[in-house]
Amino acid sequence: MVAIDERRLLRRLDELAQRGALPGGGLYRALYTPAWVSATELVSGWMKEAGLLVRRDAVGNVWGRVEGSRGGRAIVTGSHIDTVRGGGALDGALGVVAAVEAVASLVSQLGRPLRILEAVAICEEEGSRFNTNFWGARAIADRIEPDEASRARDADGVTLADAMRGVGLDPANVAQAIRRDIDTFVELHVEQGPILEEEGPRLGVVRTIVGTAHLEVVVRGQPDHAGATAMDRRRDALLGASAMMLAIADVAREMGPPAVATVGTIAVEPAQVNVVPGLARFTVDARHSDNAQRTLLVADITRVCKVAGRERDLSVDVRTLRDRPAVQLNERAADVARRACLACGVAPRDMTSGAGHDAQVLSAAAHAAMIFVPSIGGRSHCPEEATAAEDVILGTRALAAALRDLAYS
Ligand SMILES: [Zn+2]
Repeated sequence: MVAIDERRLLRRLDELAQRGALPGGGLYRALYTPAWVSATELVSGWMKEAGLLVRRDAVGNVWGRVEGSRGGRAIVTGSHIDTVRGGGALDGALGVVAAVEAVASLVSQLGRPLRILEAVAICEEEGSRFNTNFWGARAIADRIEPDEASRARDADGVTLADAMRGVGLDPANVAQAIRRDIDTFVELHVEQGPILEEEGPRLGVVRTIVGTAHLEVVVRGQPDHAGATAMDRRRDALLGASAMMLAIADVAREMGPPAVATVGTIAVEPAQVNVVPGLARFTVDARHSDNAQRTLLVADITRVCKVAGRERDLSVDVRTLRDRPAVQLNERAADVARRACLACGVAPRDMTSGAGHDAQVLSAAAHAAMIFVPSIGGRSHCPEEATAAEDVILGTRALAAALRDLAYS
C-alpha cells in the first residue's frame, strides 16, 4: 500500500480553498482571473516541491510530470481548478490536490515509474465565466472549435482570447495544448449527490456520465396595458411560460430517474411592472444516462411547451443550444479503479454521474476512469460542499493505488 501524507493533503485543500474565497462564504475561481492565477501558482509550487517537471500549456492547464523508464504513453490524473460562483472547496479541487499528493507519494516511495506519470490541474470545466465549458479538457482532446476564443465572451463582454492574453497566454497557440499520447486518465471527484453517503459504500466507480441537452424556449404573446386589458383578452407570455415549466417538471417526473429537467434562467420583455409580458425566454437543462431516453425527454418537453402555447394562443419556439450524449467510461480503466478501491478495503459501487466531468471529454483522447467519494448531504456547487476527512484520505489512497497499478506494473 502507498502511504500518503494525510495532513499535507487536508492542509493543501484548505490552502487552495483560500484562493478565490468570497467574503460571504463560498468561493469563486473563474478562468483567467487573479484568483485562478493564484491557485494555479500554488499548485505549480506543490508540483515542483514533489520534484515534478512543471509546465503550463497553451490554455493554462498546469502539468507536473515524471518520466517513465520505459516511456510510451502517459498515465495522467487530475481535475479542474475553476469553480462555479459561490462554489465549495472540493469540486475539482479534490481531484487536483489528490493528484499531486498521489503522484508525489508514489515517486518518493517507489522512485521512477515504468510509464510517464503526470498530475494535471485543468484550467476550466464549469463554464461559469464564459459561455463555453470544458475549455481545458477540450483543448487537450482537440475539441476546440476554430475561432472559439474570440467568440466566447464573459458577462462584461471580454472575449476569452483577451482574457488569455491578460494572463500571458496566446490564443493563436491553443492547438499546442493537444495531447495524443495519453494512455489513461483517472479523476478523483466528489459525488455531488447523496447516494454514497446514504447507501454506501464509501467509494464509487463511474461507469456512465449522463447526456445533457440544453434548450432555449421563446414564448411570444402580446404586450398590453396591465390596467386596461381584461384577463380574458390577454396573451401573457410569462403565464404561458409558467404553465410550460410545470409541465416540463411533470414530464421528467413521469419518465422517472435518472431523467431530470431544470429551468435555470428566465427573461421577460418588456419587464415592466405595469405591462402584460409580451415575450418570455427560458432555458431547459434535460439529462438522462440513456441516449434514446434523453431524445425522448427532449421531444416530450418540446411537445408540452407547444401544447401549453396553443392553449393560450402563444407562439412557441424551442431551439437546441447544445446536446451532449451520455458517455460510457472505459471498462478496463474502470476495472483498474475497482481493484484499487478493493485494495483499500472497499468494494466500490458502480455509478452513473448526473454531473458532467473532464473525464467525459478526455475519454475521447484516452481511457478514462473516475472514482467518487461521498458528499455530505449530497450538497455541491454551494459553500456547504464537504466530504469527511477520512473519505478524502480514502479516495486519495485509492487514486494512488490505481496509478501504481497503471504506471509501475
Ligand atoms: Zn467538478
